[in-house]
Amino acid sequence: MPRFRPIASLLISRIIMLAVACMLLFGGAHAWWENRKSMQEFRATMHTLVSNSMIALSGALWDIDPAMVNEQLRWLSQLPSVGHVLLRVTATGQVFEAGSGPLPDRAPAVSLPVMPPATSQSHLQLGELQVWEDGDHYLSVLRDSTLRVLLGYAVLTTLVCLMVAWVMRRELRQPLHQIARFAASLKPNELSRPLVLDRPQRDEVDEIDLVIQGFQQLQQDVRGYIEHLDLLVAQRTAQLENLVEEVQRMSLTDALTGCYNRRAMDERLEAEIGRCRRQGLPLSVLFVDVDRFKYVNDTHGHAAGDAVLREVAQRCGQNLHVPRDWMVRYGGEEFLIVLPERPSHEAAQLGERIGHAIRSQVVQAYGLELKVTVSIGIAQLQPDDAQEDLLARADARLYDAKRAGRDCVRVAHAHT
Ligand code: GH3
Ligand code: MG
Ligand code: MG
Repeated sequence: MPRFRPIASLLISRIIMLAVACMLLFGGAHAWWENRKSMQEFRATMHTLVSNSMIALSGALWDIDPAMVNEQLRWLSQLPSVGHVLLRVTATGQVFEAGSGPLPDRAPAVSLPVMPPATSQSHLQLGELQVWEDGDHYLSVLRDSTLRVLLGYAVLTTLVCLMVAWVMRRELRQPLHQIARFAASLKPNELSRPLVLDRPQRDEVDEIDLVIQGFQQLQQDVRGYIEHLDLLVAQRTAQLENLVEEVQRMSLTDALTGCYNRRAMDERLEAEIGRCRRQGLPLSVLFVDVDRFKYVNDTHGHAAGDAVLREVAQRCGQNLHVPRDWMVRYGGEEFLIVLPERPSHEAAQLGERIGHAIRSQVVQAYGLELKVTVSIGIAQLQPDDAQEDLLARADARLYDAKRAGRDCVRVAHAHT
């Protein structure tokens, strides 16, 4: 993960860089301006001072009083901005000098002729006075002034940085950290937990408030979306459950008649036999076979045959005690009825009722009225019976019924 760097420190470092650049730029400009201004001021001051001392100097020269001349020059050289003073006498070429250090090799700042006193009536130049500024004094004045400006900038920059740091910390860092902590700790099941920040209430709204509003909106949308997904999942699950039920039902049901199919029988009959045997209850089965069904197909067509099968299945079903009793389409036109908890004589009564129900009323199919009968073979579960034994005995009785002329019921007695 990249190194964490607070925005405040980035902002402050940028402000400091900008301030340093400004200090250099404005400090330089200030020094240049100050230099120019001080030089002009210096020369003006110099001019005034030198002009003021000119009367005394001219008197001293006129009187040829070297001590007085030296005194005047020393007084001039001791002025704060003056570094060196030189007076050259025109008539004799004599040179008077005062000031600290050697004579500067640059041009003098001020150069003035020394004229005779006004009372002397003479217009001949007595000498020339040259004055050099005091470079060190001048530089120190310039340095002090520039340093003051730079110091002002530094103080201002520090104050600005402190202010920025304070505002950033209070207005950005703390709320953003709280938002980050909240977002990191938020669990999908607690999306309704509101984002509340520890900050004073204000009349205005700022960027942090916009972030909070956006976050709340996001929470609400995600919550809505999850609820929508939950609903969708519940709907899909219900649809799937229905489909699974339907598929299960179809996998166990015969499509033509709606009876159980052989697969369902395999699943259920063994269990029913086991249960009745454990509980000491009887169990009987009936094989119901449509008589001369091939004739119906051959004479009236397969569709009429199907209609007969549906009708036979329905009339059988109407006589059953559902769901205890149940019925399987065992083969083409052959049905197996299972009667748990019922002995063979009750099964025989049911067989008679079914035979009557089918025989007594013609089957209507495609405008035809078809007389239909069934033969029925019945067997009751015996203590040693396997499922196959039970079915075989019932099937044998069905065969008996067919041999006896059809449209009748035959019941197997124990161990026959
Ligand atoms: P029996 O009285 O001896 O039982 O004679 P039957 O004609 O009923 O018996 P058989 O076994 O000779 O003929 C059964 C016929 O049932 C043969 C077959 O084509 C027909 N069949 C089997 N399944 C279907 C079906 O789903 N629909 C139709 N329409 N006919 C079927
Ligand atoms: Mg038949
Ligand atoms: Mg048959």
